[in-house]
Amino acid sequence: MQCNTETPAACGQQIMGWADQLAQFSEAPDMLTRTYLTSAHHGAAAQLAEWMCAAGMSVRRDMAGNVIGRYEGLTPDAPALLTGSHFDTVRNGGKYDGNLGILLPIACVQQWHEAGKRFPFAIEIIGFAEEEGVRFKATLLGSRAAAGTFDMAVLDNLDDDGHSMRDVMAASGFHAAGLGKAAYAPKAVLAFVEVHIEQGPVLLNQQLPLGVVTAISGASRFMVEIEGLAGHAGTVPMEMRRDAAMAAAEIGLYIEQRCHGTRGLVGTVGQFNVPNGAANVVPGKAIFSIDIRAEQDSVRQAAVADVLAEIEQIAKRRNVVVHSRKTHEASSVPCAPWLQQQLASAIETSGLTVKHLPSGAGHDAMAMAAITDVAMLFVRCGNGGISHHPDEIMTAADAALAAQAFSRFVENFKH
Ligand SMILES: [Zn+2]
Repeated sequence: MQCNTETPAACGQQIMGWADQLAQFSEAPDMLTRTYLTSAHHGAAAQLAEWMCAAGMSVRRDMAGNVIGRYEGLTPDAPALLTGSHFDTVRNGGKYDGNLGILLPIACVQQWHEAGKRFPFAIEIIGFAEEEGVRFKATLLGSRAAAGTFDMAVLDNLDDDGHSMRDVMAASGFHAAGLGKAAYAPKAVLAFVEVHIEQGPVLLNQQLPLGVVTAISGASRFMVEIEGLAGHAGTVPMEMRRDAAMAAAEIGLYIEQRCHGTRGLVGTVGQFNVPNGAANVVPGKAIFSIDIRAEQDSVRQAAVADVLAEIEQIAKRRNVVVHSRKTHEASSVPCAPWLQQQLASAIETSGLTVKHLPSGAGHDAMAMAAITDVAMLFVRCGNGGISHHPDEIMTAADAALAAQAFSRFVENFKH
């Protein structure tokens, strides 16, 4: 594609055009699926490297398969301001999730390159090879490698065809023994700033194109199994029932009510099963998931404690047995106030209202926080905020505004 980023509008078009082109690298026809180290994934990596190169960057791959473009500063080997996001996708995903956070900075660097502009620091754009965890059921592989927190145990995870991550990596020329070298030395890094589509409806509802993320919410997840007593739907009187599904339903409603109305707190029962259920049987067993997230860990922990206490109450009153198992726990990752402030003033300078909001979804910035201060710029998601879905959309105008704000942020960056 012809480089044309002379005006903000052209820059927005450029980013959207690249996103369309990158979306052609898919494992499945008629949808976008690009999981770690498949041929579609290799194709996308090569394409990103080509665009980075054309934008005046030197490009390297690390042993996790991350594609890293470096735009040198005024002095060689200057510490780098890092940016980037992931280029893997979920199955049948959207084309901006992750990819936008790589393409947008490339468009900005291209402009600086064409204008011969350099900064007192280097800029590195990292196309993280893996974030979503689809192929090997382990998330944030790229950013964990870059942050030096890669969990070597996941190398033995198998994909659906029974291939281990270790073998698949080796077949692609990425050797686990070299993963340690993928880690950035903290002193070579000034900060990490990730541009990402919001993946939710908050900015859209407030008619704002951009937002500054305050924190990536922490999360607690549980699987809960309720044992009641199965019985005939016609013969067991209501007062004698020990209905596992209705106990689960009552718990679900409590979670909804408990999480409602507290800023930054959300609770979800996303899986709800009545194993071997039948229309004419009182459910003897129910299995469901709980996912509770909050911007502040204390808020999340208080909600989790209340939910667990209420589960006990409900189980006692309904005479059912509960087994709950925590399957995931992650603390909130705050975005650095000094970076938030600089992002906010870049947005303000563009004449836009600044909206601060937490990110309920996990992002590469979470992993990068292990080595440096992080921040995120959210870009409005269209279509009601839908993401992880082919209907994920955003506008070229918003891409242009985001590129403008990101450029201003970098041009005025003080550390
Ligand atoms: Zn993402």
